[in-house]
Amino acid sequence: MIEILQRRLDMNLKLLHSFQEDHRLTIILELETKSTACPYCGHFSTRPHSSYIRSVHDLPIHDQEITLIIHLHKWFCDQKSCLQAEKVCHRLHMPASHDTLLNLIKNTEIQSDHENSPFCSH
Ligand SMILES: [Zn+2]
Repeated sequence: MIEILQRRLDMNLKLLHSFQEDHRLTIILELETKSTACPYCGHFSTRPHSSYIRSVHDLPIHDQEITLIIHLHKWFCDQKSCLQAEKVCHRLHMPASHDTLLNLIKNTEIQSDHENSPFCSH
């Protein structure tokens, strides 16, 4: 089964290891890329940031549960117009990810001056 899987893998995925436990096959993969497109602006980045592991439970094959453990990379986006808030925070020595900044914005109650607006028809 591993040989079949290896032939069907994306050319950027490298099979590192696999092992069988009872009715579960675990496959460890690494995504080998030298660059990737930023998910926010589409600019290609060649500057790696960090790596992380994502675990995916796939559909069973021949009554075996399949777990994929994939080593992935994060990349810096050097596009000047992309996610400026994160870059500004970093320059101010207040490192915060774009997810943290978005969560702060979502959780902030914003007072509206709508009632005092000269454009309000109340
Ligand atoms: Zn970007």
